[in-house]
Amino acid sequence: KTEEATLNLTKIEKLDIVKKELDVKSWDTSKVSLPELITSLLDKTDRDAFFVADIAVIIRQYLKWKKNLPNVTPFYAVKCNPTIGILKVLDALGTSYDCASRTEIETVLNLGVDPTRIIYANPCKQISAIKFARAHNVKLMTFDNVSELEKIEKFFPEAELVLRIAPDDSKSLMRFGTKFGVHIDDCYDLLEMAKEMNLKVVGVSFHVGSGCFDSIAYDSALKMVKSVFEMAKKLDMTLTLVDVGGGFSGSNDEMFEKFTTVIREKTAELFDSNVRIIAEPGRYFAAQSHTLAVTVISKRIIKQEDNRQHPRRTSNNMRQYNYYLADGVYGSFNNIQFDHAKPTPMLLKPSNKQPTPCTLFGPTCDSIDVIARDTQIPELKIGDWLYFPDMGAYTTASASSFNGFCPPPVYYYNSISDEELNNL
Ligand code: PLP
Repeated sequence: KTEEATLNLTKIEKLDIVKKELDVKSWDTSKVSLPELITSLLDKTDRDAFFVADIAVIIRQYLKWKKNLPNVTPFYAVKCNPTIGILKVLDALGTSYDCASRTEIETVLNLGVDPTRIIYANPCKQISAIKFARAHNVKLMTFDNVSELEKIEKFFPEAELVLRIAPDDSKSLMRFGTKFGVHIDDCYDLLEMAKEMNLKVVGVSFHVGSGCFDSIAYDSALKMVKSVFEMAKKLDMTLTLVDVGGGFSGSNDEMFEKFTTVIREKTAELFDSNVRIIAEPGRYFAAQSHTLAVTVISKRIIKQEDNRQHPRRTSNNMRQYNYYLADGVYGSFNNIQFDHAKPTPMLLKPSNKQPTPCTLFGPTCDSIDVIARDTQIPELKIGDWLYFPDMGAYTTASASSFNGFCPPPVYYYNSISDEELNNL
């Protein structure tokens, strides 16, 4: 707010600046479909794979967040997709950031973001990164064990600490409980130790797990947080912050409505109005913002006598195909390995051919580089393009350049109407 007032710019004006910086082109979706847009880019690029990012998705998600969780400040989980476009759009909208490392903190600070808009939300931090956070006044950070407290006491005693607890994460695809979060039975001791070390604990955080599918997870986690608030009270410590973490779906509106209703109702019931509620959504903002377009670089016909390779062939007279795409699991499709994703291939040019069985491989020399095994697609030829929607979360973030296949570039578009923007 202060920054906005100082710069005297509205969110719309800030977005206009970002649009120029990122060379964002306007996109009227009522006139140009996604396949048409991708097709128009093929003449302009010499790349075999690229992303189309629609910043309208991020803006709409922000508007939906404001409507459903008006009292919860989103700290975007940079790890989900640190692409500069997403970070800049969110900065213009005024969100804050969850950073997990020195590099993420540095990236966000370089945007000109105030350090108070950052939470260093990695409970196990390098000493060098703690020193970096101190030098740049990034005070808010999570912890969940004694050694972390000892490091912070030594290297950043003025830090504002958020105790990360381990909630029941059995309702999530990606469970963090075995790695992070203190068991509720150990919270009192840890708070007491922090007090003895004269450290300032300001709140409690949890993460129900990435890809959460049941709102009961937030309900029970918030009750746990309340009991930690009570423990702190017994120790004469006043907690003022609740961090409800991430785990919000980027594509399932019904689930988002359910989760946010629980969060709204439970936080109002359990905590005073002076308690600040924050969250660390990642995929919620990023997932649907990026579509990946990728070309077929090679093709192999599997003949009948190659039975050993494809024993599950559906019909004797049917051929099977291996297609080799310009991006794979070492690149943007690493979400298949790390995020339980099942990307859906779409044909750029509609085909009236019958779907035939095929396997989609990535471009590297590794046979584990498989995007989809035994799927069905009308026959493709080399140079044909496929596109995969919803490729914004945990894709480029953990893509490698193994074998020299570098992550694809991003072309930015904006399909939001002025009318929608007026709600900002
Ligand atoms: N916060 C923390 C500490 C995380 O570890 C993660 C994901 O790993 C997130 C937030 C973001 O989770 P999601 O993308 O599911 O919202």
